[in-house]
Amino acid sequence: MTRSVILGGAGFLGSHLCDFLLEKGHEVVVVDDLTSGRLENLGSSIEENGVQFIRQNICQPLSIKGNADFVFNLASPASPPRYMEMQRHTLLTGSIGTKNGLELAAEKKARFIQASTSEIYGDPLDHPQKETYWGNVNPIGPRSCYDESKRFSEALCIAYANELEVDIGIARIFNTYGPRLNPIDGRVISNMVAQALVNEPISIYGDGNQTRSFCYVSDLVDGLFALATSKHSGPINLGNPVETTINQLAEVVIEATSSQSDIQFFPLPIDDPIRRCPDISKAIALLSWRPEIDLDTGIRRTIQYFEGNGSDDS
Ligand code: UDP
Repeated sequence: MTRSVILGGAGFLGSHLCDFLLEKGHEVVVVDDLTSGRLENLGSSIEENGVQFIRQNICQPLSIKGNADFVFNLASPASPPRYMEMQRHTLLTGSIGTKNGLELAAEKKARFIQASTSEIYGDPLDHPQKETYWGNVNPIGPRSCYDESKRFSEALCIAYANELEVDIGIARIFNTYGPRLNPIDGRVISNMVAQALVNEPISIYGDGNQTRSFCYVSDLVDGLFALATSKHSGPINLGNPVETTINQLAEVVIEATSSQSDIQFFPLPIDDPIRRCPDISKAIALLSWRPEIDLDTGIRRTIQYFEGNGSDDS
């Protein structure tokens, strides 16, 4: 039986990956310190599907009994307000934690899949972003704890591949959303949906003309699996290439919730990227992957989850 270890497996992305791998017949081990992950995301998978859960910060060396075919590293806070509240934790998780994950993969001769990020590109000057773009990152700004630790973790993956022949795959993940986003984690879609459902003002930072490209979580997990089961080391962008302004997003959310909310504008956070959109030609060519769920459909599924207060049918 194929055995996968998911670092950060109780988080938003990790728990969806866990369900997906169980469906594929994998045996799954989840390691999570529950800093931003939530045990409820795993539902009944521990009791009913035999998922082994280890509560541990990945900055401590990882000791997993038995074999492993894949190690997925999805352990990190990913919401800007959350990682800015725990800058050292974020930096150490991305650096020491990734090192421990790579050591585990080396020991088990497993393929190591690193969840990197579009934040690698910072506030990009090239648009849309191709993997060949080196980025525009402020190394000491409020986002640097996340951006630089993810850049370091990519470099570390490459070093382990070069020097120890660890089989690595790097995914650069763009904004992803769906059920199990924590309603209080401060990301734009969870904020807007939570606000719209109770008719509170929708918070828009800046003038709302900044863009993001939002990928539904099931599409993203498909992409991660396609990378894992390929021979490619990446980095490969995974994201939905449909670019949306934050103002347009607010309209979609208000419409889908039939909300009475108005809009309230707040200052744009420092170093908030102005435009972000993945060029996914590499993922299409190498992984035959492209997202399928449009924003309207994905937002409606996300709303159902928020309305159901934690139950999800995704
Ligand atoms: N944003 C917003 N209102 C919110 C939360 C975020 O307008 O309540 C903006 C934020 O400034 C950014 C975009 O939405 O321009 C996406 O923010 P998010 O925190 O989801 O992720 P990011 O892409 O910045 O990592």
